[in-house]
Amino acid sequence: MLLKRLEISGFKSFAKPITLEFPTKITAVVGPNGSGKSNVADAVRWVLGEQSLKHLRGKKGEDLIFSGTPRIARLAKASVSLAFDNKDKLFPVEFGEVIMSRRVYRDGVNDYVLNGSQVRLKDIIELLSKVGLGASQHHIIAQGDSDRILYASSKERKSMIEESLGLKIFELKKNEASRKLEAAENNIKQVESLKREIQPHLKYLEVQAEKMKSA
Ligand code: ATP
Repeated sequence: MLLKRLEISGFKSFAKPITLEFPTKITAVVGPNGSGKSNVADAVRWVLGEQSLKHLRGKKGEDLIFSGTPRIARLAKASVSLAFDNKDKLFPVEFGEVIMSRRVYRDGVNDYVLNGSQVRLKDIIELLSKVGLGASQHHIIAQGDSDRILYASSKERKSMIEESLGLKIFELKKNEASRKLEAAENNIKQVESLKREIQPHLKYLEVQAEKMKSA
C-alpha cells in the first residue's frame, strides 16, 4: 500500500489548496519553524478519522479551519483528501486508487467522502481496519511523541495492537449493538408501563363486555 497524494484546503495554516505528491516510499517535508509541517501530519491524522481535538492540537472544531490573516479572510470550511494506491487491492474495494476525504464546516458539521460517495465515519474506520490503519497515535508519531509511544501504558499498547490487527471496527460495532440493545430495553420498559397503565381500563371493558353478553 502506498500513500500517493495528500490534498489540503482551508485546513489550519493552508488557506490555498495544496497537493503533496508522494512518488517514493520515503518523503521528508522540510521548512522553517511554524511553516506548517506538523499541520501536514495533523491533516493525515484527521482525514483518517481522528476524533480527539487534543491530538490535533486544537481546542474546538473551528481551530482546524483557516482562521485568516490581516490580508486573507478566514475560510468557512476545511477539507483534506488522502489518496492510496490500491492496485494490489489491499483495500477490499474495486478502486485502483482509494481516496478518502473529510470536510468540516464552522458549525461543526463533519462529513466523510470515499471515492466521491458520502460515507459515515464508521465506513472509513471499517475500511482502514482492513489494512490495520487508523487515526491512533502509533502510525503518526508527532514531534516529541516517541517517548509517549515507548512509555505507553499497557492499556494504550493494547489499543495500538488492536488497531493494527483491525479489531477497532469490532469494538465500534459492539458499542453500536450495546446502544441498540439499551434502546430496545427502554422501549420494552415503556410498553410494559403503558400496559400497566391501561390494565384497569381493559378490566373495566371486559366486565362491560360480559354484562352485554349476558343481557
Ligand atoms: P515547528 O518546526 O516549529 O514544529 P511546524 O512547521 O511543524 O513548526 P506547525 O505547528 O505545523 O508548524 O504550524 C504552526 C502554524 O500553523 C502557526 O503559525 C499557526 O498560527 C498556524 N495555524 C494553526 N492553526 C491555524 C488556523 N486554524 N488558521 C491559521 N493558521 C493556523
